[in-house]
Amino acid sequence: MTNFIKTESGTRPIKCGNLYVGGNNKITVQSMLNTKLSDTDSSIKQIELLELNGCDIIRASIDTEDDAKAINIVKKHTEMPIVADIQFDYRMAIHAIRNGADAIRINPCYIGSETNVESVINECKINNIPIRVGVNSGSVKKEFLEKYNGVNKLSLVESALEQVRIVEKYNYENIAISIKASDVKMTYDANIELSKRTDYPIHLGITESGSDEDGIIKSSMGLGSLLLMGIGDTIRVSLTEDPVREVIIGRKILQYLGLRPYGIEVVSCPTCGRTKVDLINIVRDVKKAIAPIKKDIKIAIMGCAVNGPGEARGADIGIASGNGEALLFKKGEIIKKIKESEIISVLLEEIDKLN
Ligand code: SF4
Repeated sequence: MTNFIKTESGTRPIKCGNLYVGGNNKITVQSMLNTKLSDTDSSIKQIELLELNGCDIIRASIDTEDDAKAINIVKKHTEMPIVADIQFDYRMAIHAIRNGADAIRINPCYIGSETNVESVINECKINNIPIRVGVNSGSVKKEFLEKYNGVNKLSLVESALEQVRIVEKYNYENIAISIKASDVKMTYDANIELSKRTDYPIHLGITESGSDEDGIIKSSMGLGSLLLMGIGDTIRVSLTEDPVREVIIGRKILQYLGLRPYGIEVVSCPTCGRTKVDLINIVRDVKKAIAPIKKDIKIAIMGCAVNGPGEARGADIGIASGNGEALLFKKGEIIKKIKESEIISVLLEEIDKLN
């Protein structure tokens, strides 16, 4: 059973809807809808799927008044906080907040006059909702690019902190910060620097990380390395794919770092010349069969008697295969010998029996 470990990041917690982000609270997983929020039917369907797969917080682009009005509607269908993502029009932020947004993502220096900034911050104050500010590697201001010789950790951190200072100027400290780059090392360096200079909660992500293995590997390395250092209070894996996949990958990153459980963990060996069962297909079929099962346990499916018994003993349920047969382990003990053809059905039976 994976232990539930809370973040030790030492940031100050902020409240986002029914959740706290930062401090010793669990690290949350976010995703962003790729529907227009005003298309409420499609948005609600996507929100339900995201929630089912372990999403904690939803972000949605708010580009029109209709998008803002839809916040109230979709909130009736989910417990998850909704973060309104605003680009340049400060009025959309105000509409979003008045329609129930639980947080906004906005960069004050891109929304025009001081009066605009003040009106947005006042609305956040009235409703006591957080503002996420920050920077992406593609949006560093010219003055910082010139001062620090291009996009690098210092220009990213200074850009992000400039946004923070603007919000603080209006006596508001209900803030989360993000610094994202498509470059893993730059994101890593910048977030370490940021964490030394602020105690606001940090939203982690590798921006524009791509799709498939590219996006998964970049995100796992970038987020994983920072999370292992205790940096990061909420994460988003950005993939050029279905947002549900972002959530699954994000939850698995937290699971494999021992930060939050996320269903059944499967340990299996890579196979080699000693493997005497059809391990690759067995593991593929087991993973398919257990996908809907929500139990925080570890199972091991191993190919032979070399490393097999050790891993099988260390899991809640383990299989150490031999020549057309296998030993079944449960909580470290050998239970029985089974045939290769029974491996999948016996594993499922034993998983079912575990609480
Ligand atoms: S557990 Fe056995 S079969 Fe699997 S990779 Fe190791 S030595 Fe090979």
